[in-house]
Amino acid sequence: MQITAKSEIINVGTELLLGDILNTNHQYLSKRLAELGIAVYYQSSVGDNPARLEALLKQALERSNLIIITGGLGPTVDDLTKQTAAQALGFKLVRNAECEQRIRSRFEAMGWEMSANNLLQADIPEGALILPNEHGTAPGCVMQKEGKSLILLPGPPKELKPMFEAAVVPFLLKSFETGIIHSVGLKIFGVGESKVDDLLAGFFRLQNPTVAPYAKDGEVLVRISARAASQNEAEALINPILMQIREILGDNIYGEDVAGLEEALVLALKAKGKSLAAAESCTGGLLAKRITDISGASEVFPLGVVSYSAEQKVKLLGVSRKIIDAYGVYSHQTARVMAERVRDLAGTDLGIGITGIAGPCGGTEELPAGTVFIAVASKTGTVSKLINRTGYEREQVRNYAVNYAIKLALTTLKEV
Ligand code: ATP
Repeated sequence: MQITAKSEIINVGTELLLGDILNTNHQYLSKRLAELGIAVYYQSSVGDNPARLEALLKQALERSNLIIITGGLGPTVDDLTKQTAAQALGFKLVRNAECEQRIRSRFEAMGWEMSANNLLQADIPEGALILPNEHGTAPGCVMQKEGKSLILLPGPPKELKPMFEAAVVPFLLKSFETGIIHSVGLKIFGVGESKVDDLLAGFFRLQNPTVAPYAKDGEVLVRISARAASQNEAEALINPILMQIREILGDNIYGEDVAGLEEALVLALKAKGKSLAAAESCTGGLLAKRITDISGASEVFPLGVVSYSAEQKVKLLGVSRKIIDAYGVYSHQTARVMAERVRDLAGTDLGIGITGIAGPCGGTEELPAGTVFIAVASKTGTVSKLINRTGYEREQVRNYAVNYAIKLALTTLKEV
């Protein structure tokens, strides 16, 4: 009978705790178990210390029914995982003739001298399922008792991975309910995390699919994840919730399963066969940098100008002196002309203009540091917006201005 796994991973090795090596076994196993639809509830690292490993195992056996332990299966005195795990589950270690033969043959084939220690690796918990090691000497094993499965795997990734794929995956498929986890990530800009929390509060209690928000760099990601036997079943669970959330958040969702705003913009421009140019002042080329970070941006972004001084805005972009004198260099009017002129210069469908005060100095009472004007020009006309990030760091103001400009361009793109 297949049972639902409540699994956890224990990685043994003092090197892990000292930061000498990166715990890639943890990442690999977590990812593979997720792909198999097996829930991982805990992960811990413990040094090569039998007393602490024993205590951790005791706790793990109380709360989980599938425990995967990596490392400490080698022949040296500090490799005590097998002894400790066998003891915790009440298994006796017995010499296994087949394993002994495998180890002897491997040493012979390599022309290595074998010490008595090496044969300790042929001592296997009595009654355990043996997982042969095709790339090393220490075999893995599966011990099962009273509904608990404890799987021991070697530490070296080049031994662990093939063993997991060849022997552990078939065991898991046979013994546990498996399936897939599928998720959709909605990227949101324009509403803060607490507002998203409020709007979606009713969804966070769902069990399958689950809905979870993550805030980062002024954006919010809402991830909807379902566990099911197949991709189709997972999508069927996700879709009704996705539709409701799309309805609630509307235009604030700028993309699904995209890395960021710039990727969404480049993809949207390509999809519509449109192009964009930008004239930046206080963002100093950050917008151009973010767009050109995306591979293939050259197809849609032929020109980015940094016209930092008022003089260059006049000289290079043709912003008229009159506008600067009448409205100021930081104004809707200047941003609009910058957007329109750079669009004309490059012959693109859209033009973006950004002018403002990134701070911390340079502000006035009327226009404090953190004030930025952002305009987008297209064949339907020019829109301009004022954003105010007073009190934010220079870098935060610039990042937010670029995010805002990209979002405004994405919105405009729907109309052209
Ligand atoms: P061996 O037979 O080689 O002694 P073992 O099962 O006893 O294998 P450890 O001694 O714990 O494994 O680790 C051996 C090596 O494997 C480490 O030095 C490290 O390079 C690698 N290793 C161990 N654990 C991990 C881990 N969690 N992530 C990445 N690499 C690891």
